[in-house]
Amino acid sequence: MAMQRTFSIIKPDATRRNLTGAINAMLEGAGLRIVAQKRIRMTQEQAEGFYGVHKERPFFNDLVTFMTSGPVVVQVLEGEDAVVKNREVMGATNPVEAAEGTIRKTHAENIEANSVHGSDSPENAEIEINFFFDEDEIVG
Ligand code: ATP
Ligand code: MG
Repeated sequence: MAMQRTFSIIKPDATRRNLTGAINAMLEGAGLRIVAQKRIRMTQEQAEGFYGVHKERPFFNDLVTFMTSGPVVVQVLEGEDAVVKNREVMGATNPVEAAEGTIRKTHAENIEANSVHGSDSPENAEIEINFFFDEDEIVG
């Protein structure tokens, strides 16, 4: 498996509890390199655009409110099979169902405030990276 990039967000529930470093250590421990990272306050427009695939879902408005409720850390992660590797270390969407030792099992508050986002395919990773980063901000 070749080197791959994926996109990650440390969500507002985690930044509020000062867990950026703890989560980064788990990402790095899983063999992922943080090759770009910035702490931002997502605008309503960014959150609605980023989660546009979910706009018909009943939780969409709450999700946008949550994602704009505090700072987030947007990241580009690099490694072998990075998309799958990141989804593994993140754990299931609902922390009750997440495996032991995953970020969501360890840190998530609930199914919405679940501490991290990770791209679900290489195609979406590229779209999501380009949504938040210019190529010259990514230093491998
Ligand atoms: P993410 O896309 O954030 O990495 P995911 O791929 O595991 O998470 P999705 O189904 O894409 O899960 O949902 C996107 C986000 O919407 C979830 O991470 C969570 O914050 C929120 N969410 C998903 N399902 C629910 C739900 N049933 N109730 C409330 N919020 C939800
Ligand atoms: Mg998703």
